[in-house]
Amino acid sequence: MAKQEFKAESKKLLDMVINSIYSKREVFLRELISNASDAIDKIYYRALTDDNITFNQSDYYIKIDVNKDNRTLKVIDTGIGMTKEDLESNLGTIARSGSFDFKNENELKDGYDIIGQFGVGFYAAFMVADKVTVISKALDSDQAYVWESAGADGFTIEPTDKKDVGTEIILSVKENTEDENYDEYLEEYRIKQIVKKYSDFIRYPIKMDVTES
Ligand code: ADP
Ligand code: MG
Repeated sequence: MAKQEFKAESKKLLDMVINSIYSKREVFLRELISNASDAIDKIYYRALTDDNITFNQSDYYIKIDVNKDNRTLKVIDTGIGMTKEDLESNLGTIARSGSFDFKNENELKDGYDIIGQFGVGFYAAFMVADKVTVISKALDSDQAYVWESAGADGFTIEPTDKKDVGTEIILSVKENTEDENYDEYLEEYRIKQIVKKYSDFIRYPIKMDVTES
């Protein structure tokens, strides 16, 4: 499939997200975990009204998988997943949905990093990744799709294989530069620290796998 372009306003916002808006890159993980949790909520509510779905609490979790050799960080969920159309519209338009929404009031504290209080959403992933791959299989869909983007110049969507319903977000973590350290996002202790700091209230279990050389 030919590369599709982001909407014009998306490009600008994407540049802002990547280059300036965040003093704290670490919030990318909060955004991905919150999306994973939202996706599990959606399948949970579907199960309440649809007898064909049985909701087993233990089947629903978020998994973080770090691989230092491949420089990848994955956030995997067993949520509702995305169809091809969902991938195209939800991940192709940065300014829609709750991106750049102000977080809720009780998170507003004086002297607290004002910028960190915005939810930038999915695109925060590009603060630490030079390529983002999303593999997803939607509930009610037999075909899974892979969405991939290396940033502002667009994204591709192709059919792929995935057995279970849910979504896998794969970040190809940037190489360190003279001024910036990205290796820290491949460290188990650091990931645990970020999860604890921002995602402590998440209702579903957050598991973690680490592969080290
Ligand atoms: P928001 O979460 O505020 O809607 P995001 O930019 O974080 O904005 O995400 C955009 C949309 O992409 C979400 O609303 C959702 O429809 C979809 N999405 C993102 N991550 C996932 C996921 N893990 N599973 C299912 N859908 C997702
Ligand atoms: Mg979100």
